[in-house]
Order: sequence, then structure tokens, then C-alpha cells
Amino acid sequence: MNAGKRGSLWVVATPIGNLGDLSPRAVQVLREAGMIAAEDTRHSRPLLQHFGVATPLTALHEHNERAVVESLIERLRGGESVALISDAGTPLVSDPGFRLVRAAREAGIEVSPVPGACAAIAALSVAGLPSDRFVFEGFLPAREASRRVRLRELANEPRTLVIYESSHRIAECCTDLRDAFGAQREARLLRELTKVHETCLGMTLGEIAGRVEADPKQRLGECVLVVAGHGEEVDAKLAEGRRVYALLRAELAPAQAAKLAAAISGAPRKALYGA
Ligand code: SAM
Repeated sequence: MNAGKRGSLWVVATPIGNLGDLSPRAVQVLREAGMIAAEDTRHSRPLLQHFGVATPLTALHEHNERAVVESLIERLRGGESVALISDAGTPLVSDPGFRLVRAAREAGIEVSPVPGACAAIAALSVAGLPSDRFVFEGFLPAREASRRVRLRELANEPRTLVIYESSHRIAECCTDLRDAFGAQREARLLRELTKVHETCLGMTLGEIAGRVEADPKQRLGECVLVVAGHGEEVDAKLAEGRRVYALLRAELAPAQAAKLAAAISGAPRKALYGA
């Protein structure tokens, strides 16, 4: 491992809630680095203290990244190792650090990851939606008009979408998603991952938008939306149609059961008839 390797930039993931998710390797790298560049030093100090990390801290956030990069590259050139962390999860994933990593690469400095928590991957891993191919969309535009334009562009994306949203905009975001993608599109709202109040709300955008609008508790904390790609909802409708058809078939003739199941689920009647 050689955590104290001279002149390396270490990109270190920190927990997204549960402190148990900081790896032993991350602790070692943070302890042995000459300097830790943190998104918010006040935020990270308690975490570092908890793990007995006494390495000096410097702030690197979106407003000073340009200015700070040069001095960090100088330190790295001088043989010091630097660890980069953000407030939570993996640096550079909707977090600062891109300019520093790029500058380090351009300067021929070794850059190594210390992987760990990432809300997007954690959410995808438990959503139960197709995960072989996915698109990380990060945060949608905050302004309503721009958000709706972006969602229209994404409506036909066939891969699963992973979206970050802040709690104060989650209700509008879910409503806009439902309007742009259709109420039947399969989705999950994952909140407070790895924390005490971790929840997963599903199954469709219609259902999620309704619950988030009606229940203020569903708007609390940090959340990730995982949305099935375009085309996947056909399968969801079909599965629901088959389930309803099987129930109705116990009482009704096949044609009548198929007609009702199609009306209830939105699945094509022909695909259900005789299923
Ligand atoms: N770099 C981080 C990562 O690797 O996930 C993401 C940082 S971004 C500024 C913060 C967003 O990540 C939140 O608004 C939320 O969408 C998501 N997030 C972070 N922690 C989370 C958690 N414990 N549960 C659900 N979402 C979380």
C-alpha cells in the first residue's frame, strides 16, 4: 500500500453517514499524508479527530480551488503527499477536486484513489432497478425552467438514471420527473443511506411524487433518485398487468380478466390475454 508514498495525491472517500464506512486504509493514508485538502475543514475536523488523524488541514472548495491548486501542486512536487477529501462520500462526485486532480495529472504527479462510500453507487446497489448500465446525472438544474428542459432531454434515455437532490427541492423535482417521464415510470427515492432513518420509497414516479407531496417526512434528509430508463416501464406495466390478470382470472373469463387487467395496469390487453 505505502500510504506515505512521497509526492502522491490521494483521493480519499469518507462516509456518507455511517462512520463505520471509513476504511482502515483511508485512516492510514489520512494519518500519513503531509496535508489534507478538505472541502470544509470545520465539517471534516470532527471526523478526523474521531479517527485520531492529526494531519494539518487546508480548505479546498469550489470558490478557492483555482487559487489553492497551485500551492498544493508545489507541495506535491516538493515530495509531500496530499490527501483530498470532501464533506461526504467520494471527492469529485458532485464535489470539488476536479481541478486539483487534473493539474496533478498534467504535472506528472501520481494520483491514487482510496475508494469508499458514494451515495450514487450505494443507491443504485439497493434500488432493484437495472444496474448493468446507468447514467449519473448529479444535481438537476435548480431553476424550474432549466430543470424541465433537462428532463425533456432525458425522457428517452434507455439507461437507469441516478439523480442527486437536496431535501428542499425534492418535492418539485419528483413532480417534474413524473410530468416529464410519466407516472408509470419505475423509480426509487432513497433517503438517509447508511443512517438511522434510511428509507427506500417506490415503485413508480407517480407514487413517489404523491407520497413526497403528502408527507413532509419524505422530504427530510439527503436523498438520491434512481429512475428506470425509457422502455423499462413497459416491463413494469406488463408485470403489474400479469399480476392483476392472475387475480381476476380466478373469478372471470380470460377475455374479461384481460380487459380489466389492461385497464388497471396500462399493459397491452393482447399481452395479457391467455397469459
Ligand atoms: N460526493 C458525494 C458522494 O460520493 O455521494 C456526493 C456529494 S453531493 C454534494 C451531496 C448529495 O449526495 C446529497 O444532496 C444527496 O443527493 C447525496 N447524498 C449524500 N449522502 C447521502 C445519503 N446518506 N443518503 C442519500 N443521499 C445522499
